[in-house]
Amino acid sequence: MDASVYVGDGVLEVQQVEVPSPGPGDVLVEVGQCGICGTDVHLVLERIARPGTVLGHEWAGTIAAVGDEVRDWEVGDRVVCGPTPGCGTCRACRSGRPSVCLDRPLTDHLDFRGAYARYVVAPADQLLAIPDRLSIREAALVEPTAVALHAVTLSGVSTDDRVLVTGAGPVGLLVTAVLHAQGVHDVTVSEPSPIRRAHASKVGAARVVEPHELPRSRMGAPVDEPFSIVFECSGRADAAEAAIDQLDFAGTCVLVGTGHELPRINHNRVIVLENTIIGSYNYDAGGFAPALALLASGAMPLDVLAEPVDVSLDELPEALRRCAAGELPGKVMVRPFRSEERAR
Ligand SMILES: [Zn+2]
Ligand SMILES: [Zn+2]
Repeated sequence: MDASVYVGDGVLEVQQVEVPSPGPGDVLVEVGQCGICGTDVHLVLERIARPGTVLGHEWAGTIAAVGDEVRDWEVGDRVVCGPTPGCGTCRACRSGRPSVCLDRPLTDHLDFRGAYARYVVAPADQLLAIPDRLSIREAALVEPTAVALHAVTLSGVSTDDRVLVTGAGPVGLLVTAVLHAQGVHDVTVSEPSPIRRAHASKVGAARVVEPHELPRSRMGAPVDEPFSIVFECSGRADAAEAAIDQLDFAGTCVLVGTGHELPRINHNRVIVLENTIIGSYNYDAGGFAPALALLASGAMPLDVLAEPVDVSLDELPEALRRCAAGELPGKVMVRPFRSEERAR
């Protein structure tokens, strides 16, 4: 089968590789679409990926073969694959947060057999059926939607909160869309790129601003128009600092974007304003099921959230570059074929 293989030095090559064979409890899935994640962009362009690996984890597809012991799934079923379940007994699992289970295997992004390929293998007991009203392409939004939904859940947001989202990349857009779908309408998005600001308005932001419009904090007091909840989705140190500066008394900042440069936090102000700063990394206790239901509910602007045209395997390097440059505001979907056969 064709796959986009990382060969080192920031280079991806379309190569012929063996179709993986499913174990007894696995299924072989023909990938419909696989979204480009910020992680993929970092792994390739920053040359972190291990040569020989195939990236891509935001996939949805159709079962092409089932392992000997698989009873509940058949060839032709449309599926996504949810996260590994927690152990059920550790401190995190007992408090309803299995996605940070203390016993979970560490995700090794370097040793990866992903879905920038025609087929991928998945454990049958982690599959979820794609609801009828969602296309496979739409269902490929489930992983980043689950990430956004988790951030919103952890924030404890309610409909009378005044919310700021910093960064309107794919995660910031999904957080904005999830908030809108949940009836949270006082949402401001801060983003330097005009194309992404325009996109933020389309997915539910009531107001968009440029980062320089956010005021600097005052000592011991909120800014003039503070926010009760802020989602930091850019991963930039300056954006995280500005995000925390906008918090009201008893405000909460949810950190969702990761980055190399570290923000400086004015702990005195956090203390005096009794702010809460929390991290959001994985998914809600229900895994992907709530995100899949939300996508199928009709409340999410699916056509805006994903870029309209699929990218083929040979177009993937250029697409990664354009994602890094912020030229593609929606989630970019890869269809794992070469350009010349994509039309089939
Ligand atoms: Zn991802
Ligand atoms: Zn656990």
